[in-house]
Amino acid sequence: MMSAYKGKPLGTIGDFGTYSFHETKNYTMGEGGLFFVNRKKYRDRAEVIREKGTNRKQFFRGEVDKYSWVDFGSSYLPSEMNAAYLFSQLECAEEINRKRLILWNRYYGELEDLQDKGKVELPYIPDDCRHNAHMFYIKVKDLLQRTRLLEYLKRHEIKAVFHYVPLHTSAAGKKFGEFVGEDRYTTAESDRLIRLPMFYALKESEVSYITEMIHRFFKGE
Ligand SMILES: *Cc1c(COP(=O)(O)O)cnc(C)c1O
Repeated sequence: MMSAYKGKPLGTIGDFGTYSFHETKNYTMGEGGLFFVNRKKYRDRAEVIREKGTNRKQFFRGEVDKYSWVDFGSSYLPSEMNAAYLFSQLECAEEINRKRLILWNRYYGELEDLQDKGKVELPYIPDDCRHNAHMFYIKVKDLLQRTRLLEYLKRHEIKAVFHYVPLHTSAAGKKFGEFVGEDRYTTAESDRLIRLPMFYALKESEVSYITEMIHRFFKGE
Protein backbone atom coordinates (compact mmCIF):
# COMPACT_ATOMS: atom_id res chain seq x y z
CA MET A 1 0.00 0.00 0.00
CA MET A 2 1.23 3.53 -0.94
CA SER A 3 3.66 2.08 -3.48
CA ALA A 4 3.52 2.55 -7.21
CA TYR A 5 5.06 1.16 -10.37
CA LYS A 6 5.31 3.63 -13.27
CA GLY A 7 2.77 5.84 -11.52
CA LYS A 8 0.22 3.04 -11.03
CA PRO A 9 -0.58 2.17 -7.41
CA LEU A 10 0.32 -1.44 -6.58
CA GLY A 11 -2.78 -3.58 -6.34
CA THR A 12 -4.40 -1.86 -9.33
CA ILE A 13 -2.30 -3.23 -12.19
CA GLY A 14 -4.03 -6.53 -12.99
CA ASP A 15 -7.64 -7.74 -12.78
CA PHE A 16 -7.19 -8.55 -9.09
CA GLY A 17 -5.02 -7.09 -6.39
CA THR A 18 -4.57 -7.72 -2.68
CA TYR A 19 -3.17 -5.87 0.30
CA SER A 20 -2.29 -7.54 3.56
CA PHE A 21 -3.14 -5.89 6.87
CA HIS A 22 -1.31 -8.56 8.84
CA GLU A 23 0.32 -7.38 12.07
CA THR A 24 3.73 -7.10 10.35
CA LYS A 25 2.53 -4.62 7.72
CA ASN A 26 2.61 -0.83 7.44
CA TYR A 27 -1.13 -0.66 8.17
CA THR A 28 -2.53 -3.40 10.30
CA MET A 29 -5.68 -4.94 11.74
CA GLY A 30 -3.91 -7.94 13.25
CA GLU A 31 -5.09 -10.29 10.54
CA GLY A 32 -6.95 -9.18 7.46
CA GLY A 33 -6.58 -7.78 4.00
CA LEU A 34 -8.07 -5.95 1.09
CA PHE A 35 -9.12 -7.35 -2.27
CA PHE A 36 -9.25 -5.17 -5.39
CA VAL A 37 -11.24 -6.00 -8.48
CA ASN A 38 -11.62 -3.93 -11.63
CA ARG A 39 -15.01 -5.13 -12.92
CA LYS A 40 -18.50 -5.18 -11.50
CA LYS A 41 -18.99 -8.92 -12.09
CA TYR A 42 -15.93 -9.70 -9.99
CA ARG A 43 -17.11 -7.38 -7.26
CA ASP A 44 -20.51 -9.08 -7.13
CA ARG A 45 -18.95 -12.51 -6.84
CA ALA A 46 -16.38 -11.35 -4.27
CA GLU A 47 -19.24 -10.03 -2.12
CA VAL A 48 -20.88 -13.46 -2.19
CA ILE A 49 -17.68 -15.40 -1.45
CA ARG A 50 -16.90 -13.32 1.63
CA GLU A 51 -20.50 -13.64 2.87
CA LYS A 52 -20.23 -17.43 3.21
CA GLY A 53 -21.51 -17.97 -0.33
CA THR A 54 -24.74 -16.02 0.21
CA ASN A 55 -26.18 -12.93 -1.48
CA ARG A 56 -26.70 -11.27 1.90
CA LYS A 57 -25.12 -8.03 0.68
CA GLN A 58 -27.68 -7.76 -2.14
CA PHE A 59 -30.40 -8.36 0.43
CA PHE A 60 -29.13 -5.47 2.56
CA ARG A 61 -29.22 -3.24 -0.51
CA GLY A 62 -32.84 -4.26 -1.08
CA GLU A 63 -32.03 -5.93 -4.40
CA VAL A 64 -33.49 -9.31 -3.36
CA ASP A 65 -36.31 -10.06 -0.87
CA LYS A 66 -34.43 -12.82 1.02
CA TYR A 67 -30.89 -14.06 1.01
CA SER A 68 -29.69 -17.56 0.32
CA TRP A 69 -26.69 -19.63 -0.78
CA VAL A 70 -25.66 -18.94 -4.34
CA ASP A 71 -21.96 -19.88 -4.62
CA PHE A 72 -18.87 -21.08 -2.78
CA GLY A 73 -17.75 -18.99 0.12
CA SER A 74 -16.51 -18.74 3.64
CA SER A 75 -16.61 -16.30 6.52
CA TYR A 76 -14.11 -13.69 5.34
CA LEU A 77 -15.68 -10.61 6.89
CA PRO A 78 -13.45 -8.79 9.37
CA SER A 79 -14.95 -7.84 12.71
CA GLU A 80 -15.94 -4.21 13.24
CA MET A 81 -13.39 -3.94 16.05
CA ASN A 82 -10.58 -4.92 13.69
CA ALA A 83 -11.93 -2.67 10.96
CA ALA A 84 -12.06 0.30 13.35
CA TYR A 85 -8.48 -0.34 14.43
CA LEU A 86 -7.40 -0.28 10.79
CA PHE A 87 -9.59 2.65 9.81
CA SER A 88 -7.87 5.06 12.20
CA GLN A 89 -4.54 4.16 10.58
CA LEU A 90 -5.91 4.65 7.08
CA GLU A 91 -7.03 8.14 8.11
CA CYS A 92 -3.34 8.90 8.81
CA ALA A 93 -2.00 6.80 5.94
CA GLU A 94 0.03 9.67 4.47
CA GLU A 95 1.56 10.58 7.80
CA ILE A 96 2.50 6.97 8.59
CA ASN A 97 4.04 6.59 5.15
CA ARG A 98 5.98 9.86 5.47
CA LYS A 99 7.45 8.83 8.83
CA ARG A 100 8.46 5.39 7.55
CA LEU A 101 10.17 6.95 4.52
CA ILE A 102 12.07 9.36 6.78
CA LEU A 103 13.36 6.40 8.83
CA TRP A 104 14.18 4.45 5.67
CA ASN A 105 16.09 7.35 4.13
CA ARG A 106 17.98 7.90 7.36
CA TYR A 107 19.11 4.25 7.42
CA TYR A 108 20.18 4.60 3.81
CA GLY A 109 22.08 7.85 4.32
CA GLU A 110 23.88 6.61 7.42
CA LEU A 111 24.91 3.28 5.89
CA GLU A 112 25.85 4.51 2.42
CA ASP A 113 29.54 4.85 3.31
CA LEU A 114 29.63 1.15 4.25
CA GLN A 115 28.21 0.34 0.85
CA ASP A 116 30.84 2.55 -0.82
CA LYS A 117 33.53 0.60 1.06
CA GLY A 118 32.04 -2.70 -0.15
CA LYS A 119 31.07 -3.88 3.35
CA VAL A 120 27.30 -4.05 2.82
CA GLU A 121 24.75 -3.82 0.05
CA LEU A 122 21.73 -1.58 0.45
CA PRO A 123 18.29 -1.83 -1.18
CA TYR A 124 18.01 -0.59 -4.74
CA ILE A 125 14.88 1.29 -5.82
CA PRO A 126 14.51 1.65 -9.61
CA ASP A 127 13.59 5.15 -10.85
CA ASP A 128 10.05 4.24 -11.92
CA CYS A 129 9.14 2.66 -8.57
CA ARG A 130 7.75 4.44 -5.53
CA HIS A 131 8.14 2.35 -2.38
CA ASN A 132 6.43 2.50 1.00
CA ALA A 133 9.38 1.77 3.31
CA HIS A 134 7.88 -1.54 4.33
CA MET A 135 11.28 -2.87 5.34
CA PHE A 136 14.90 -1.85 5.43
CA TYR A 137 17.44 -4.56 4.80
CA ILE A 138 21.17 -4.79 4.32
CA LYS A 139 23.16 -7.61 2.77
CA VAL A 140 26.45 -8.62 4.33
CA LYS A 141 29.20 -10.95 3.05
CA ASP A 142 27.81 -14.35 3.93
CA LEU A 143 25.93 -16.49 6.45
CA LEU A 144 28.79 -16.50 8.96
CA GLN A 145 29.09 -12.71 8.97
CA ARG A 146 25.34 -12.36 9.22
CA THR A 147 25.18 -14.64 12.25
CA ARG A 148 27.95 -12.63 13.94
CA LEU A 149 26.32 -9.27 13.14
CA LEU A 150 22.92 -10.45 14.42
CA GLU A 151 24.53 -11.58 17.67
CA TYR A 152 26.43 -8.30 17.97
CA LEU A 153 23.24 -6.28 17.47
CA LYS A 154 21.37 -8.45 19.97
CA ARG A 155 24.05 -7.76 22.59
CA HIS A 156 23.32 -4.06 22.02
CA GLU A 157 19.57 -4.61 22.42
CA ILE A 158 18.78 -4.32 18.72
CA LYS A 159 16.38 -6.87 17.37
CA ALA A 160 17.33 -7.45 13.74
CA VAL A 161 16.21 -10.57 11.95
CA PHE A 162 16.94 -12.62 8.90
CA HIS A 163 14.08 -13.15 6.52
CA TYR A 164 12.18 -15.55 4.29
CA VAL A 165 13.99 -18.77 3.45
CA PRO A 166 13.83 -19.65 -0.25
CA LEU A 167 10.59 -21.53 -0.90
CA HIS A 168 12.28 -24.35 -2.79
CA THR A 169 14.13 -25.36 0.40
CA SER A 170 10.92 -25.64 2.45
CA ALA A 171 9.06 -28.91 2.95
CA ALA A 172 6.08 -27.77 0.86
CA GLY A 173 8.37 -26.23 -1.76
CA LYS A 174 10.10 -29.58 -2.21
CA LYS A 175 6.78 -31.36 -2.44
CA PHE A 176 4.89 -29.01 -4.76
CA GLY A 177 7.56 -27.01 -6.56
CA GLU A 178 10.93 -27.32 -8.20
CA PHE A 179 13.98 -25.14 -8.64
CA VAL A 180 14.51 -24.49 -12.32
CA GLY A 181 18.12 -24.07 -13.35
CA GLU A 182 21.08 -23.67 -11.02
CA ASP A 183 20.66 -22.02 -7.60
CA ARG A 184 23.39 -19.44 -8.06
CA TYR A 185 21.78 -16.52 -6.20
CA THR A 186 18.58 -17.43 -4.36
CA THR A 187 20.08 -19.25 -1.39
CA ALA A 188 23.24 -17.15 -1.22
CA GLU A 189 21.29 -13.84 -1.23
CA SER A 190 18.82 -15.13 1.34
CA ASP A 191 21.70 -16.22 3.61
CA ARG A 192 23.24 -12.76 3.76
CA LEU A 193 20.17 -10.60 4.24
CA ILE A 194 19.34 -8.82 7.52
CA ARG A 195 16.21 -6.81 8.24
CA LEU A 196 16.68 -3.85 10.53
CA PRO A 197 13.95 -2.57 12.88
CA MET A 198 11.29 -0.60 10.98
CA PHE A 199 8.03 0.52 12.55
CA TYR A 200 6.11 3.77 12.91
CA ALA A 201 7.09 4.46 16.54
CA LEU A 202 10.80 3.97 15.85
CA LYS A 203 12.74 7.17 16.59
CA GLU A 204 15.23 8.76 14.23
CA SER A 205 17.75 8.76 17.09
CA GLU A 206 17.24 5.00 17.41
CA VAL A 207 17.99 4.54 13.72
CA SER A 208 21.23 6.46 14.29
CA TYR A 209 22.08 4.22 17.27
CA ILE A 210 21.52 1.13 15.12
CA THR A 211 23.64 2.40 12.22
CA GLU A 212 26.35 3.45 14.71
CA MET A 213 26.46 -0.12 16.07
CA ILE A 214 26.69 -1.52 12.55
CA HIS A 215 29.62 0.82 11.86
CA ARG A 216 31.31 -0.35 15.06
CA PHE A 217 30.83 -3.97 14.07
CA PHE A 218 32.52 -3.38 10.72
CA LYS A 219 35.40 -1.49 12.33
CA GLY A 220 36.26 -4.72 14.14
CA GLU A 221 36.03 -6.78 10.91
C1 LIG B 1 2.56 -10.37 5.17
C2 LIG B 1 3.04 -11.44 5.98
C3 LIG B 1 2.14 -12.39 6.50
C4 LIG B 1 0.65 -12.38 6.20
O1 LIG B 1 0.29 -12.24 4.89
P1 LIG B 1 -1.25 -12.36 4.50
O2 LIG B 1 -1.27 -12.17 3.04
O3 LIG B 1 -2.00 -11.29 5.26
O4 LIG B 1 -1.67 -13.73 4.93
C5 LIG B 1 2.67 -13.37 7.31
N1 LIG B 1 3.98 -13.42 7.61
C6 LIG B 1 4.86 -12.52 7.14
C7 LIG B 1 6.31 -12.61 7.51
C8 LIG B 1 4.41 -11.50 6.31
O5 LIG B 1 5.30 -10.60 5.86
